[in-house]
Amino acid sequence: MADFYVKAILPRSKRLREVPETPKLPLSNGQIAELLSQESEAATGHLQRALRKATQAAFLWPVEAGELLAKKESLQQLAGIGPHLERLIRRWFEAPPPLSELSPLRQNFLTTAQAKRILAKRPQWADQYHGDLQMHSNWSDGSGKIKDMADAARKRGYEYIAMTDHSQGLKIAGGMDEQELAEQAEEIEALNAKLKASQQHFRVLKSIEMNLSPEGQGDMDPKALKKLDLVVGSFHSKLRVTGDQTERYLSALRNPSIQILGHPRGRIYNRRLGLTADWPRVFAEVSRLNKAIEVDSYPDRQDLDVELLLVAKKEGCRIAIDTDAHAPDQLAWVELGLAATLLAGIPAERVINFLSATELLKWAKSVKSQ
Ligand SMILES: [Zn+2]
Repeated sequence: MADFYVKAILPRSKRLREVPETPKLPLSNGQIAELLSQESEAATGHLQRALRKATQAAFLWPVEAGELLAKKESLQQLAGIGPHLERLIRRWFEAPPPLSELSPLRQNFLTTAQAKRILAKRPQWADQYHGDLQMHSNWSDGSGKIKDMADAARKRGYEYIAMTDHSQGLKIAGGMDEQELAEQAEEIEALNAKLKASQQHFRVLKSIEMNLSPEGQGDMDPKALKKLDLVVGSFHSKLRVTGDQTERYLSALRNPSIQILGHPRGRIYNRRLGLTADWPRVFAEVSRLNKAIEVDSYPDRQDLDVELLLVAKKEGCRIAIDTDAHAPDQLAWVELGLAATLLAGIPAERVINFLSATELLKWAKSVKSQ
């Protein structure tokens, strides 16, 4: 499947090509998103906002709009679609407009409908997934309590989650200082004790999404980080610079406090291209240090994407598939990351979320003691 994807998509990634699993439809959800996005550029006010909202929603629609039309169903059951946009999309289906080149800001994003088809062909891939290692609660900028995130994860059949609220440097997201991190740990321990007492095979891992400076330095006392099970490190600043950023990545990876590098490029759909680096060198360093690099499945991030995952595969590094969820229902977005890793042909043994909690903690410990 991976080779097919490479041949069929990547060399022509500037065009609107679809993965081969796409059913024969005049337009896929990805193409509808592109048309909605183009339309939004010419619109103003309320209509522009509705078009932008629908563009993002199209990536999350669980079914192809074209399949609903074929069944003579309303498109208004899809998020972001009201009567006006339904009429617009129906017109596109009757006479598909010429599709121009995709802006680099919108390339290599999977839709949920696509991801579901890809995963349906190999259900055992998603079945190996034991837990999500990046998510936020109301300790920083998430909307749910830790318990809400844990309940949602248990319903999905997970064995663990890592709570990775933001660290103090990211003030805009309500980042935690060392004191708050310690208080959060108490809440997690109490919840874990309760779960254990009720014989639930599930635990919340103590973690953090530590903000990294553009030089790759953390913003928390390493002693406080030592008490955690895992540390995700992520860049949130100077993400629009265009020069080579290899050194920033290498120094971040060599930061002894972190085990996972979160949303590596920092790209955002239609807003930010993300950083560039000598990726084979970066991924080789991830491998050498036995750390992991993340596929952030947040729909407008999808970072790493399939193109970079193919490079990561060659360098043999470990991969974390996370959602970066900021609300309990967003854990479902993991399908995008699972599909991307499956398309790239990442070997199962390199996906750290396929490890049991015991194996995962053993790995994290071995990385820390290097
Ligand atoms: Zn982040």
